[in-house]
Amino acid sequence: MKTKYNLPPKVIFCKECVMTNQRPSSIPEFFHTKNRAGAHYLQIDENGVCDACKHNKIKNKINWNKREKELLELLAKHRKSNGEYDCLVPGSGGKDSAYQAHILKYKYKMNPLLVTWPPILYTEYGLKNFNNWINVGGFDSVVVRPNGRVMKLLTKLSIENLLHPFQTFFFGQKNVAPKIAAKFNIKLVFYGENEAEYGNPIAENVSSIRKTSYFLTKNFNKLYLAGIKIKDLIKNYDLKLNDLKIFLPESEKEFLKKKIQIHYLGYYLRWVPQEAYYYAVENTGFKPRPFRTQGTFSKYNSIDDKIDDLHYYTTYIKYGLGRASYDASQEIRNGHMNRKEAVTLVKKYDGEFPDIYFDEIMQYLEIKKSNFFKLCDQFRSPHLWIKKGKKWFLKNLIS
Ligand SMILES: [Zn+2]
Repeated sequence: MKTKYNLPPKVIFCKECVMTNQRPSSIPEFFHTKNRAGAHYLQIDENGVCDACKHNKIKNKINWNKREKELLELLAKHRKSNGEYDCLVPGSGGKDSAYQAHILKYKYKMNPLLVTWPPILYTEYGLKNFNNWINVGGFDSVVVRPNGRVMKLLTKLSIENLLHPFQTFFFGQKNVAPKIAAKFNIKLVFYGENEAEYGNPIAENVSSIRKTSYFLTKNFNKLYLAGIKIKDLIKNYDLKLNDLKIFLPESEKEFLKKKIQIHYLGYYLRWVPQEAYYYAVENTGFKPRPFRTQGTFSKYNSIDDKIDDLHYYTTYIKYGLGRASYDASQEIRNGHMNRKEAVTLVKKYDGEFPDIYFDEIMQYLEIKKSNFFKLCDQFRSPHLWIKKGKKWFLKNLIS
């Protein structure tokens, strides 16, 4: 049977977590096109275990004392005592970035500058947590806000062309830190966890350094935003290259001259999301959202952007994997849940429609609600979905 997006035609569930081989591996967003030509998906081996679970076992055997020593050496090389910033921490003030910045400043005595690419539509909880990060945590921060008209246009187009409401956020999340580091002459940047750990081939996770293909480019003409070539965007929507520059990666040639290193702190320190949460509550005034996030069971993961919940609804449409599948797989790997409990939660919450912010998002983007649902139906791959009467059902249910 024909599948969309180069997806594997036969759905296989991991025996240990609740992920499937339909989970996309990361690709540089600026090569993301409608048919996702050449895209890769989570590998599951002949024993039925996925790469993310295998990687987790490797992680459990890591000598973390040795890794921390490596971190201390790296920090000693960069630490400054003349008042200049010596490292940059991108983030939103969510639990992970809050933990990351705080531990670098107060435990390891670094002088971090924070940089934030704000959510597309802040939730009140996200905005409070961001303010607390700065005010309670005690940091200097730079907020980079893109041109609101272009942001809105690109977000709308990324939904229409890719059913990917969160793409503009991802662009900033990946590209803004290298740009600001270059501007402020900061040679060391710390992201938190390596997102590749959860869906990419194991070989990509053995380094502390972020792959440059995610934020550098040799040729702007080859890039896509919202699934559209840059030159076509400029021509068809009356834009200029400088309207788009902030969403685009840095030029490789210029960036490499500056010798900036981008590391994952999660390579050096054992990263347990639940512990990062408690740490952030304690030290930066972080608060969970008082209600459960729609589509999953958690209250404290990625709660800053109203569009985030819709993003996971679209992953459910395109790959058959909603937010509960992602969250529960994580909980299993961290030893907080067994597979049976996870299956129950996935059955209960995956694909739950995020209606709390939906009307507001559609109003902001000027998309008709009925058009959004029509789009969803166009993006369902026939190997995953079947229509009975007026309702759609996943063909492969987890058990
Ligand atoms: Zn797994």
